[in-house]
Formats: sequence, structure tokens, C-alpha cells
Amino acid sequence: MDFTTSWDDGRADDMRLAVLLEKYGAKGTFYVSPPPTHEKQALTDGEIKDLSQRHEIGAHTITHPKLTRLSLDDARREIAESKTWIEERIGKPCTAFCYPYGDENTAMRTLVKEAGYETARTVEQLQLSSNDPFGMPTTLQIYPFPFRRKFTRWWHVIDPVARLRMFYPTMRQYGLPLSATCSWLNLAKAMFMYGLQTDQSFFHLWGHSWEVEKYGMWGELEKFLEFVSKQDNVTYAVNSQLLSRS
Ligand SMILES: [Zn+2]
Repeated sequence: MDFTTSWDDGRADDMRLAVLLEKYGAKGTFYVSPPPTHEKQALTDGEIKDLSQRHEIGAHTITHPKLTRLSLDDARREIAESKTWIEERIGKPCTAFCYPYGDENTAMRTLVKEAGYETARTVEQLQLSSNDPFGMPTTLQIYPFPFRRKFTRWWHVIDPVARLRMFYPTMRQYGLPLSATCSWLNLAKAMFMYGLQTDQSFFHLWGHSWEVEKYGMWGELEKFLEFVSKQDNVTYAVNSQLLSRS
């Protein structure tokens, strides 16, 4: 099984994340948007270049919009110009794209293909295989589970177990143990073992480094990477490498 990870938006904490991945031999694709002018926590051009030599850099549009709400011309510009923006910084082709908020449709997929990308990631979770290069799903986001520790949005106060409710049917379908509902780390490990034991094609972990920091999840992330590093029959890949192997 391939193990791949991806990290969105291009924030400064990505550098810490890259070091953690490397400690356990893992690879990441970092989907970077240019920083808004007031954004102080963004990756610098030098850091983007540095990361491109150690992992993979993908494009994530210029202004991080919901693409399907734009005119086709504006969406085309966001998709194509962000490829150029990345390539100017890394000095090599950028073949991976990630739809902001996972917002996409057939027209957006066509634009991504026309711009010359080879793959595009969504925010779909709980998947362990795919034959859809322009709708690449993920397996699990690193995010508080089953409860959020800080409630910053009112609807989470009203429905603090929304994520558990959303995941539970698939967790049952995979026959995951009840302990998988207790913590993010338990869920990640159970999903990973299910994937290995049923000979699935990949496990795709994704997230935002700023959320790992905000929700205090560095420890859980490290424990999971360490767990993965101890399993046999795992290969480490950046996102675009999943294609050539499937
Ligand atoms: Zn994003």
C-alpha cells in the first residue's frame, strides 16, 4: 500500500511538518497559494523552493476561491496562473492541483486538465483507492475527532459530533473496531490497518499545518507517522506518484 500525505495553503508551519515527515521517511505534497498581502504566516519563496526539493509542491489557485462560483474565464485564470506561479518558484513542472474547499465539477476538471495538470485532489475522505486522477480522494484529514477541543463556530457547539456521525456508516462498513471512535489517532490507525489487511492501494493523510498547531495535534500526528513507519509493505509516495502506480 502507498502512504501519501498532503498539506494545504502554504503556511509557515509546513516547514515543521516537512521535518516531521522526514523523521519517519514519509513524503508530502504541499498545495501552496500565494499569500494574501496581510498574511504573515505564509511560506517564503525560498521555503517553497526548498520544500520542492524534499517533497512535492502542488498548485491551489491564486486567491483560494470557490472555483464553481467564478465565471469560467476567472476559474481558468486561477487554475492556469497558479501553475505558472508555482513553476516560477520551483523551477520545474507543477503537475498536481488541489481544489480549494474541494469545490469542483465537470467544468473545473476540464479546466484543470487543459491547464496541463496530471492530477487534482478533492477533500473527500475515507477512501483507499481511486481511478479518478482529477478527483483524487483522501483517506483521512488530521482534525479533532470525535470532538473539537475549541468551538470556534457556532454549529459545532450545536453538533459537536458531526464528524463522527458522518464517518460512522463507512467505519461500520469497513468493520473498524469501536475503539476507532475514541480518538483521531485510533481512527487513523484502524483505517490504516484496514487498508493494509484488505490490500488497498493507498492511505492518503491530509490537513493544514496551521490546524495541527491550532488544535494541538502534533503529538498525535507524530504517533501516527511512527506507527506507519513500523508497518511492512508500505511505500512512500507524493500525490502525483499514486497515478503511475495504480
Ligand atoms: Zn485551501
